[in-house]
Amino acid sequence: MNKPLLGKAALITGSTSGIGLALAHVLAKAGANIMLNGFGDADDIAAMVAKIEGEYGVTARYGAADMTRPGEIAALVGATHAAFGRLDIAIPNAGIQHVSPVEDFPVDKWDAILAINLSSAFHVIRAALPLMKAAGFGRIVNMASAHALVASPYKAAYVAAKHGLAGLTKTVALEVAQSGITCNAICPGYVKTPLVENQITDTARARGISEKAVVTDVILAAQPTKKFVTYDQLGGLLLYLVSDAGASVNGALLSVDGGWTAQ
Ligand code: NAD
Repeated sequence: MNKPLLGKAALITGSTSGIGLALAHVLAKAGANIMLNGFGDADDIAAMVAKIEGEYGVTARYGAADMTRPGEIAALVGATHAAFGRLDIAIPNAGIQHVSPVEDFPVDKWDAILAINLSSAFHVIRAALPLMKAAGFGRIVNMASAHALVASPYKAAYVAAKHGLAGLTKTVALEVAQSGITCNAICPGYVKTPLVENQITDTARARGISEKAVVTDVILAAQPTKKFVTYDQLGGLLLYLVSDAGASVNGALLSVDGGWTAQ
């Protein structure tokens, strides 16, 4: 079995669902020990931890930090290092969405999206960098979005947060460039996760069209391939970025969007 990440340790925020959980499996399959994070039913999360350990023979842990709380985020980074004795890979991935015209955008949703989709990445990186610098190695991979590069109507907070995450990615990359650390962002197009499934309903309401029309005319209209991006496609890029071969890719905003942002 090819285990290029054997003995390494990875923290993935928002990994009890969707992309984060899928990437946890990708990294564990490659040999990394995993710190999961995110909301969910305690029994379901225990089953996720057990599944990762059982399938790949790695150690998996779970930390319940709320990505709106800076102190809990710093503690999660510390707990990862304490559990595994190292922190090689940090993936700020937690994210939420809300779809609404700007003038009706609920202020609490704006604040929550900025906190979870942007500021939590800052807090993870801030706490992880001293550990990575001491080790002389680190891989930070922010889960951005096509919406880090282009906008769509009715997603003001999400687009603003993801554009902010792009800026954070580039700034950190410059600061760590001589430390054996890289900081990049993956910018997926639409991936069929619970986050997107929920948007279908909300977008239908905001645009006054059917849910079927949202999928064909809004979601797949944006992606020239007319296909959702898959977990495996994101996982392949992630494995490259965290490998030695990825050492000179730094500060990059890497589109995996079927050509969406080429338009
Ligand atoms: P998802 O809803 O399936 O998963 C989101 C995860 O974040 C869950 O584990 C959830 O518990 C966690 N989370 C939410 N709020 C949290 C909080 N306050 N504290 C801790 N954890 C919290 O979503 P997903 O589609 O897998 O999205 C993951 C990331 O990928 C997000 O940053 C999203 O913006 C990005 N993304 C998704 C798509 C897509 O099409 N699905 C496209 C581009 C980018």
